[in-house]
Amino acid sequence: MKLGKFTINIIETGTFGLDGGAMFGVVPKNLWASKYSAPDEQNRIPMRSRSLLLQFDKKTIIVDTGNGNKFSQKLQSIYAIDSTKESLEISLHNYGVSNEDVTDVLLTHLHFDHSGGATSYDGNLLVPTFTNALYYVNEEHLQWALNPVLKDQASFIKENFVPLLEHGVLKTLTNDTPFEGISFEILHGHTRALQGYKITTPERTIFFPSDLCPTAAHIPLPYGMGYDNFPLSTIEEKKRLWKKAVEEEWIVVFQHDAFIPAGIIGENDKGYFLREQVSFD
Ligand SMILES: [Zn+2]
Repeated sequence: MKLGKFTINIIETGTFGLDGGAMFGVVPKNLWASKYSAPDEQNRIPMRSRSLLLQFDKKTIIVDTGNGNKFSQKLQSIYAIDSTKESLEISLHNYGVSNEDVTDVLLTHLHFDHSGGATSYDGNLLVPTFTNALYYVNEEHLQWALNPVLKDQASFIKENFVPLLEHGVLKTLTNDTPFEGISFEILHGHTRALQGYKITTPERTIFFPSDLCPTAAHIPLPYGMGYDNFPLSTIEEKKRLWKKAVEEEWIVVFQHDAFIPAGIIGENDKGYFLREQVSFD
């Protein structure tokens, strides 16, 4: 999709599975299973992990890096992580982008399904995957990830981001990015100081809310995740942002939705809903 100076593509980085109950918090199973997907025998529902590829001027930027490929056999089987058919590497290759071409990596937060692809093994050494890139994350979130609370500590795997610090390539942001047209909302509901990125162009705004709204089924305000650290903040944040998203017809990307990559949110007397799907092809 070409908007203003940006060429914007959604790229697939692989599939995985998460517990359906955890993904939908207090929503009863008969509701989420009919709305999203029936779970497998381990109660997991299908998930994808998506990144954004932004190309403009001489920049090649990716937003988030998916699960990556450093998992132990055990974790791979718990989370049904599969990057054999689609992966960050395969998707970038399909757009003619090599790892060396990537100039910047914007991370929404450091949970493993967003930062896993940021580092890779070079022999026994853990190194930044994108050798010419600078990486960015929120300063407050980095401190949270380095000193995690019990609730989301299992989602932080230090191998995904400590090597970036050691190589001096992880920059922290506080309230803006260095790139004109790319900004972020700081969100505290899912984890502390997650950055939901906004790409603003004369035609449209693209919003990448990350885990504020992982699937289109999470658009309604009460549909929050059990994983959220501060569920009431998630509701307030969606309420504030969906109002604008409806007014300005933002294209919202659903990073983990196995079926619907992006869409436009509508509002009726029952609340917010997916008004239409949007294809980037
Ligand atoms: Zn997360």
